[in-house]
Amino acid sequence: MTLPTTHVSFPAGAVTGESPVLAVHPLADGRYAVVTAATPFHPLDHTWPDQPADLGTLTVDGTELAVVDCLTGAVGPEGGEPLVGADIPVRRGDEEWSWLVLHVVDGDPGDLVGRTAALAVDADRRGALSASHSGCHLLALALNAALAPRWRKDPGRSDAFGHPDFDSLAMASSVMDTAASTDTYRLGKSLKKKGFTVDATEEFPALADALPALTEAVNARLAAWVAADAPVRIEVPGPELTARRQWHCELPEGGAQIFCGGTHLHHLGELAELRTELRLSEDGTELVAVTSPKRA
Ligand SMILES: [Zn+2]
Repeated sequence: MTLPTTHVSFPAGAVTGESPVLAVHPLADGRYAVVTAATPFHPLDHTWPDQPADLGTLTVDGTELAVVDCLTGAVGPEGGEPLVGADIPVRRGDEEWSWLVLHVVDGDPGDLVGRTAALAVDADRRGALSASHSGCHLLALALNAALAPRWRKDPGRSDAFGHPDFDSLAMASSVMDTAASTDTYRLGKSLKKKGFTVDATEEFPALADALPALTEAVNARLAAWVAADAPVRIEVPGPELTARRQWHCELPEGGAQIFCGGTHLHHLGELAELRTELRLSEDGTELVAVTSPKRA
């Protein structure tokens, strides 16, 4: 029997829920994965693991189990044990496969199948991760705006505000934790071929010399967006874990959208401050942005 793809309530911001247990699977590392029909838990994504897993508890008939990790599992058309992480041979959302939120517990939880689990996410940790994730998307838009004059030609991809999408064109990795989002951009040959200028020209200094002014421009924009208390929502086309969701933020300049599988703030007034720090690697081939939200 193949399990149905898990329904998730985290996109709307839920941190609690109740759902029947559908399966308990032993994992390769000796721990166990509890699968429910629905869950508020956000699992680590196997394709783009930017936002860490939710942690929390799962309670069945008064017995509380610690959820020590939360992973994405996939079961192929032939059924069997779910595959996890790098063992999954297909991309997220492959419709032939079932996509499961795996609540990882340390010991054998016994036979829970058919019983109702009360699921509770560590709300404080979730709040911090949501702040970092919203900060990550805002940084992308603010950085694209600040770097827009450095494009000699249209690279063929622009963001919601019509600026060349430096963030997605140069992105090497994006990682969030409870304190910050760290976005690493590669300033390689292909980016320069697309028209991005790193060196000094008559109009502006070399990127390395421009960093203090760029940082100031990005932080001024982030501060204005936080001050505007812009509302944030996730557009959810369906309840499944694999639904293609979109982050929306009503900024003073207009509405911005970014495809996103993570969790977010409801409005930017939940932050007291959002600041980024831009660093260039010594050889000039990598730009790193560390964006730290302070929650109000
Ligand atoms: Zn995202």
